[in-house]
Amino acid sequence: MDQIEMKQLAIVSGKGGTGKTTIAAAFASLAKNKVMVDCDVDAADLHLLLKPKIVTQEKYFGGRSPYVDLDKCTQCGCCTELCRFKAIDNGVVDPVSCEGCGFCSHICPENAIMMKEAFSGDWFVSETSLGPFVHARLGIGEENSGKLVTVVRKKAMEVAQEGGLELILIDGPPGIGCPVTASLTGVNLILAITEPTLSGIHDLERILKLAGHFKIPSMVCVNKFDINLENTQKIVSCCEKDGSRVIGRIPYEPKVVEALVNKKTLMNYPCGEVQRIVREMWEEVENTLFPFPFNEKLGRGDRDRGC
Ligand code: SF4
Ligand code: SF4
Repeated sequence: MDQIEMKQLAIVSGKGGTGKTTIAAAFASLAKNKVMVDCDVDAADLHLLLKPKIVTQEKYFGGRSPYVDLDKCTQCGCCTELCRFKAIDNGVVDPVSCEGCGFCSHICPENAIMMKEAFSGDWFVSETSLGPFVHARLGIGEENSGKLVTVVRKKAMEVAQEGGLELILIDGPPGIGCPVTASLTGVNLILAITEPTLSGIHDLERILKLAGHFKIPSMVCVNKFDINLENTQKIVSCCEKDGSRVIGRIPYEPKVVEALVNKKTLMNYPCGEVQRIVREMWEEVENTLFPFPFNEKLGRGDRDRGC
């Protein structure tokens, strides 16, 4: 049998609350032979739907913060005066305001300040009923989420290689900042979830531009498309302009919210037409990631086989 290459799909959105994680969890129900990754480490919530059982937990030390030797400190006030973030007061550091720049360690006349690696969060490898899941929790007030995303993605790659898994399914962070960039590098396909609002269109344009910058093919899903048909049409035009394509239009469906309240993926809750639309979207994505002949050889055409 031909060897199949591991593929990575990132599900992203210009901002939070567009249904990105809902679609990611639904795809997790439909995809076979995959590892799931929650790269939204600032506000992780995929675990609420996947109900993971933690197998491995590791601490992540990503940033640096000043450590002050109070025996050496003469309370001269230099650090207080010169820290532009007002994060240190005569040797006492405010960890929330501190940006870890290290400047104070250079200007302390007593050499009382040393920069040390700081705890930034935890990452986990878990088991779920849908397969392995790699996720993380950023420490309170920590901002190195891009680095933590990179750690989580690396771990997911290892899990996939060890398990002979063909797909890494990434629930990406919202926005277009550093964590998003860290989530997108090296992926094979982006699925952007948007809503037909003016801000949704604006955010989508930014995401598609980012995808274009990295030369990653992108597809688009318009969630709650029927709340504004005019804006949905604008999204279709915007995608055509950017060489992307709308592969799914999901209507507003209160049952989807009900599913989330009940901590179910929408494929495991009676969500009417939405299930069919999401299934068709997944088929489109799967056929793009694993074009013929791999689909046939691996039995990927058998949609009912489950995970
Ligand atoms: S600059 Fe050094 S010696 Fe002066 S207050 Fe700060 S830590 Fe203490
Ligand atoms: S590391 Fe930078 S931000 Fe933090 S206390 Fe020192 S000078 Fe201020």
